[in-house]
Amino acid sequence: MQHFAEQARFPTCGWLDKIMPERFPSLQQKIEDRLKYYEDLGIRLFYKDRVGDGGAVAAVETGVARTAAAPSIVQEPALPKYNPKPTAPKPVTPTPPPIVVQPTGPSLFEAAEKIVDDTLLKIREDLGDCTRCKLHKGRNKLVYGDGNPEAQLVFVGEGPGADEDMQGLPFVGRAGKLLTQMIEAMGLQRRDVYICNVVKCRPPDNRAPEPDEVATCAPFLLRQLDVIRPKVIVCLGAVAAKTLLNTTRGISQYRGEWLEWRGHKLMATYHPAYLLRNPPAKADVWKDLQKVMAELGLALPRKSKA
Ligand code: SF4
Repeated sequence: MQHFAEQARFPTCGWLDKIMPERFPSLQQKIEDRLKYYEDLGIRLFYKDRVGDGGAVAAVETGVARTAAAPSIVQEPALPKYNPKPTAPKPVTPTPPPIVVQPTGPSLFEAAEKIVDDTLLKIREDLGDCTRCKLHKGRNKLVYGDGNPEAQLVFVGEGPGADEDMQGLPFVGRAGKLLTQMIEAMGLQRRDVYICNVVKCRPPDNRAPEPDEVATCAPFLLRQLDVIRPKVIVCLGAVAAKTLLNTTRGISQYRGEWLEWRGHKLMATYHPAYLLRNPPAKADVWKDLQKVMAELGLALPRKSKA
């Protein structure tokens, strides 16, 4: 068969193969060369799969013309390309600027000079039976302040309520009881801290003190803070924060941030009366108080294991 195939390809030159084999390679040699060529191309398997070893071998053995035995190379469909869905670029979140409480005018306390040898007792004596603003008209008792005169922590509220007005002590009503719980949660007692208000007399119907009332009464608060010289001042509510920071910005814009007031660290947080109306806000206040605790070196509560 090999001879026949060779004669079919070179019908008149079969004798030349015997004379000059190196010049006229046999058909078998050509097929072997072709297979080697496929192997070198890395497509031998493809070739084998389409024809089978038998076909290729048979072609070699039978000498059938290559065009008849060898399969044509089928165009392989293009492999699916990795084409990840284009993801929209992440929006760049601008870094919020640091909170800076801009005073809206000259500080209420800037012009006030420290009084040499001032004491809490002197300040109380200076207040006397105060009639400096209209709040004195509805007052039962002036509520000056209460607590440790050398406290490292001072809470400043807004003004007395009904219970405070009756007893002459700050934060003794429902909101006061909540403040006491907050203080005790910090590992302190009320006697460890000092508590006072921006205005010393109860505003009618528990309204917020008006600007003229704040301007008249707040200098006494300044003197109290200057005498006590606490490490940390906690403003309870917007009135106290706005008064000491001399700003009109809402408390939510700087609540929980460490601020500075006349060399003291100041933290503004929500008023306990607000927490009674909005209990979920207690979590925010507790976070703020834990910052205060850390600042004062108080032991922080251990996180419970989930
Ligand atoms: Fe005086 Fe202050 Fe009372 Fe006004 S609120 S009457 S300034 S103590």
